[in-house]
Amino acid sequence: MAAKIQTSFCFPLHSTPTSKRKPHFHSLTITASKSISGRKLRAAVIGGGPAGSSAAEALASGGVETFLFERNPPSVAKPCGGAIPLCMLEEFDIPHHLIDRHVTRMRIFSPSNIAVDFGKTLKPHEFIAMLRREVLDSYLRSRAHAAGATAVVGLVTDLDLPAEPDAPYTVHYTANGSSRKTLAVDVVIGADGANSRVAKAIGAGEYACAIAFQERIKLPEEKMAQYENLAEMYVGEDVSPDFYAWVFPKCDHVAVGTGTVRAKRNIKVYQRGIRERVSPKINGGKVIKVEAHPIPEHPRPVRVRGRVALVGDAAGYVTKCSGEGIYFAAKSGRVCGNAVVKASEGGERMIDERDLLREYLKPWDAEYVNTFRFLDLLQRVFYGSNASREALVELCGDEYVQRMTFESYLYKKLARGSACDGFKLFVNTVGTLVRSRIVESRMESLIL
Ligand SMILES: Cc1cc2nc3c(=O)[nH]c(=O)nc-3n(C[C@H](O)[C@H](O)[C@H](O)COP(=O)(O)OP(=O)(O)OC[C@H]3O[C@@H](n4cnc5c(N)ncnc54)[C@H](O)[C@@H]3O)c2cc1C
Repeated sequence: MAAKIQTSFCFPLHSTPTSKRKPHFHSLTITASKSISGRKLRAAVIGGGPAGSSAAEALASGGVETFLFERNPPSVAKPCGGAIPLCMLEEFDIPHHLIDRHVTRMRIFSPSNIAVDFGKTLKPHEFIAMLRREVLDSYLRSRAHAAGATAVVGLVTDLDLPAEPDAPYTVHYTANGSSRKTLAVDVVIGADGANSRVAKAIGAGEYACAIAFQERIKLPEEKMAQYENLAEMYVGEDVSPDFYAWVFPKCDHVAVGTGTVRAKRNIKVYQRGIRERVSPKINGGKVIKVEAHPIPEHPRPVRVRGRVALVGDAAGYVTKCSGEGIYFAAKSGRVCGNAVVKASEGGERMIDERDLLREYLKPWDAEYVNTFRFLDLLQRVFYGSNASREALVELCGDEYVQRMTFESYLYKKLARGSACDGFKLFVNTVGTLVRSRIVESRMESLIL
């Protein structure tokens, strides 16, 4: 694959990475879109998760010469719960046979173990799809390749920024575990996840991260049957100080995990907490895999610089409260890929930073900033103390809350309810929070 890349290239290619330039993080703005004669615009997409594959598919389909870099073989799974919303299946043409489980029942457990069923308002055709990431990622990657993106199996180690506005970016990578190679490109899409090297190379700044920890547990058949179409969420100081813990059903096992931003060092303590809470249901199970990974808490300070754009986790697109990122990764990759296609007129012209800001970042923020802000607010209100968690679970019993939550999650639109129901919900929320605080202070006085 690498040999094919080298012979077909007319950009300067460095066979050994000796000409490394010092990073300089100013924006490289080309004054006007320039035509490229005799070749197509070339893009490197770093990372073959949902964000990278979707970006590469859009780019290649739109006429841009595209290279999709992925360090891992198809069998390696990104640590993830693998829950995706209904709208993603249709929007990204995901075949139903890739789905392991159709979750139609969600149960949420309060700190005092009060359980509320949370899927009562789902319509007969509605469900949350549970997939294995190795299955989903391989499928999306193969679609990018079918659209014309060249697969580069290798670890990207560095990115050289151009010294002049028109000069190419140089991607440094190691192929087959050893040989070091470079590739010169016009545009770079950083889809390399939470530890993004592309973000570092362009000085995109840091974001706060949660850590998520998960054990895959194979259960005896009769215990697995409980989770046929059921996913569980647990809240409480014992399982996380600022997030929730979960039991998600997979093809032949369950994923049991938790996350935290505030107390990362104690993540194993919280994992023990969730295991204790679910112990009657998972006793006799065998741990087949243990995994952990950072989850970004908010977008990076910079997501576009020069002709480089960040998408998915690299950009910081994971919602608070739910920790959902697969849909936003795929969607941002596609929006960004389409933006490059549009600005370059199907790969015929050079693009610049203003194109990426106008065609990618502006529409993206206009569509999703409110969703991210709203979920951030919910996390702060409801995950802060055991009292507010009790309130959260109580509210989850309300059918109006269920309908609004599922509509927002499944279809990725902030659902609009009736003004009257909305007002009732507001009153209920305030009432529940007030009651819960009273309950908590009573409990505290009893303990003291
Ligand atoms: C434990 C856990 C559970 C989660 N559960 C859910 C869930 O149920 N539902 C949900 O929607 N979200 C969930 N998330 C969040 C979700 O996993 C991410 O938001 C999503 O994977 C982001 O996709 P991405 O393509 O941006 O990045 P990633 O999926 O991280 O993909 C990045 C890709 O880039 C490759 N890569 C990285 N660096 C390099 C390099 N230098 N060179 C070459 N390749 C490179 C990696 O191998 C990887 O394939 C969970 C996260 C965690 C940690």
